[in-house]
Amino acid sequence: MVLCLHFVPSLHVEKREVGVREWIGGAKLLGAMSLFDRGLDVAHAVMAHGQRQPRIVEVGRVTDKGRKFAQRGGVIAPGVIEHGLVVAFLSGHNVFDREGYGMIHGGLQRGTLRRMRIRLISTDFDGTLHAETEDPPVPEDLQVLLADLQAAGASWVINTGRDLSGLLEAVGRARLRVRPDFVVVVERAIYQRQGSAYVAVEPWNGQCERMHLELFQRITPDLPALKAWVQARFRALIYEDNFSPFCVIATSNGEMDAIQEHLAEYCRSVPGLDVMRNDVYSRFNHADFNKGTALREVARILGVKAEETVAAGDHWNDLPMLSWSLAHGLIAPANAIEPVKAAVQRQGGYVSGQPWGHGVARGLERLLG
Ligand SMILES: [Mg+2]
Repeated sequence: MVLCLHFVPSLHVEKREVGVREWIGGAKLLGAMSLFDRGLDVAHAVMAHGQRQPRIVEVGRVTDKGRKFAQRGGVIAPGVIEHGLVVAFLSGHNVFDREGYGMIHGGLQRGTLRRMRIRLISTDFDGTLHAETEDPPVPEDLQVLLADLQAAGASWVINTGRDLSGLLEAVGRARLRVRPDFVVVVERAIYQRQGSAYVAVEPWNGQCERMHLELFQRITPDLPALKAWVQARFRALIYEDNFSPFCVIATSNGEMDAIQEHLAEYCRSVPGLDVMRNDVYSRFNHADFNKGTALREVARILGVKAEETVAAGDHWNDLPMLSWSLAHGLIAPANAIEPVKAAVQRQGGYVSGQPWGHGVARGLERLLG
């Protein structure tokens, strides 16, 4: 039986924190025979880590004496071969994502990220790219990856619920070495970088504003009753801002679940109305404008296809852009909420064992091969 697998025969061995024996059961999952049956033919692939260029270099036969590979005569200890196959299996199923295997996350995913040509990367900001408590808030290696991708011609968009000034302040405080080519703010308005300025993208933003104005005028008579309903039951804060006439900050996610349910029911009675949630925050918005439709517009402007697009997010408001129809490279960090992880896994994306920007960096590395 020939197994055509990429594996790293030696680089991970010294750090084998997962005992190979522990994973022998995995051989069944491989659909293969016991790895050390006589006469097992193995395609021996070596991944050149430096170049990230996996390639098959040898094909040999493992026998009970079998420490030799036929074609090159190299001697490889059986344990190394065994371990390499296990690594290949785990790697191919997205089970771990860093050397040392300290971050193995359980369960096999149905899909894995495939190497792709990346021309557009859409990242949520808070909790995906940026972690306020970290120093630096955006990991250095992620910044390097984004800079490399931009240098290779890719565009990067920060797709956030923050408003423009709030985002740019945070970007400034984080002392980023890279600047996004586009920003999507309040989950709907698009700005494109021109030199050191971010310029409104038209006619998108104008149309977005007009449609929200019209929608919000229609629902104004209903708002007092909605407010009273919430206040009679919860301690949530209700307010109006420049972007929505009805915004809620709940005191817990459980409270927001209940409020969300009520608001969603109301939305079903108003064509075009939707409620956008991020953690314990929510606000009304027009259903035609969200992180997904904004990403579609940026991709249209750039002439980029879903096959060339990556999207990474961690919360409810990221779900519209975490869609195979928009991005074939989908990434969720370890801190993403379960519905986001489930959506990403369901579509063959990558859920990292690492949080925030670290997880995004691991996902991009996988896509880059
Ligand atoms: Mg977020």
